[in-house]
Amino acid sequence: MVETFTRPVWRSFTQKFIGNAAEWVRSGGCAVVWRPAKGGPAAWLLLPLDDEGGTDAMPEPAYWAMLAVYLEKYKRIARGAAKGLATVRVARSYEHEVEHWCERDSKYAEPTREISLDCTTCAACCIKNRVVLDREDLARLAGTDRPELTKKPYVRTEKGVKLLALDQKTGACVHLTDKLCGIYERRPDNCRWFPAATEPCLIARREEFGWED
Ligand code: SF4
Ligand code: SF4
Repeated sequence: MVETFTRPVWRSFTQKFIGNAAEWVRSGGCAVVWRPAKGGPAAWLLLPLDDEGGTDAMPEPAYWAMLAVYLEKYKRIARGAAKGLATVRVARSYEHEVEHWCERDSKYAEPTREISLDCTTCAACCIKNRVVLDREDLARLAGTDRPELTKKPYVRTEKGVKLLALDQKTGACVHLTDKLCGIYERRPDNCRWFPAATEPCLIARREEFGWED
């Protein structure tokens, strides 16, 4: 089933143009601002926030973009042209990733765009993933009739953490068949919450199939 989502478009700015970057973010986009730093310009994300502050106040696509480059905390800018927006520095090892988002989106003129995706013909996020299973997930998997789903070969253990098992040859989740989930009603919370059309989704599509938005 095809669904349509609105996602932010990424732009790259230098610190000198922070006012333009702030305007872009306030119009719905996301920005990478390159600031002078030791060893060369460093990438800082500039992201939207509502007036409440806190992680929950950040729109989901921006929050998931932070997670995609292993960031969770940000600072709310207190003064200047970008006052009220969120910022966080990107680790050097992920600067290439955020640069890629800006390059990919350079063909889009507006700060947001509509994207149509069909998860039933994709399943990129079900391959080479790391789906942690908590107690509730395990109880749901077992239900009253499938206790075997909570053990090998359906579950693997990594340093004491239980995860969905992957097919050793393909790297796909053992429950995936023809791009469809074989345990859809019982699937773990991490699968339920995985957000389509955010950067982790777009990264999975690119890494598995070379598909670019
Ligand atoms: S990678 Fe994105 S489009 Fe593909 S199945 Fe997962 S959420 Fe859907
Ligand atoms: S349980 Fe289903 S949704 Fe989750 S990774 Fe496996 S196939 Fe994908």
